[in-house]
Amino acid sequence: MLRSGETFEIINLSKGEAGFAEEIKKMGGERILECIQCGKCAATCPLALAGFPFFNKRVIHAILNGLKEVLLNDISIWACQSCNRCTETCPRRVDPFEIMMAMRRVAVRKYALPATAIKGIKSLYDVGHAVYLSEAGEPRKKLGLPEKPPTTVADPEALAEVQSILRKTSLATLGIIPMGEFGIFGI
Ligand code: SF4
Ligand code: SF4
Repeated sequence: MLRSGETFEIINLSKGEAGFAEEIKKMGGERILECIQCGKCAATCPLALAGFPFFNKRVIHAILNGLKEVLLNDISIWACQSCNRCTETCPRRVDPFEIMMAMRRVAVRKYALPATAIKGIKSLYDVGHAVYLSEAGEPRKKLGLPEKPPTTVADPEALAEVQSILRKTSLATLGIIPMGEFGIFGI
């Protein structure tokens, strides 16, 4: 029963895409067919707690029903925290986290990325961190720390290595972000 103010969306299962589960298997979600929809992964998932409509168990359910377009039009998979609680909890060793990542890989190939994800990828290429607070330099100095942490952001050699790896991934061929002299934009 719906509570006051709640809405629901009717999903037409007859529009499901046959072979979607096979695509997910090829993208890294090898054990998706082992899922028995017990819900243990959902009970530990921060996405479910935060109210996202497609947390691990529901993503798997949607994939098994071939609902590719529904998932591509929803941002839930991008909110996964990579906490791996679902993987530790699953009694069938389905590895729901890997299925979330497989779904992201499918989404990237369809350019179905939210702006925040593109920002994260660009930051990863530029400084070696998907999330990096450049404005943290001043507070770090006040605490007696170097302006930049001792990671790729302060190590040009390591950053060049990260960039070289990223240029070899399919992200480079997608052209979502500029990737330097060897990247898709050639700049
Ligand atoms: S815990 Fe495992 S078997 Fe249960 S719903 Fe989640 S993925 Fe499926
Ligand atoms: S890894 Fe992602 S899907 Fe799994 S419990 Fe954490 S947030 Fe949820």
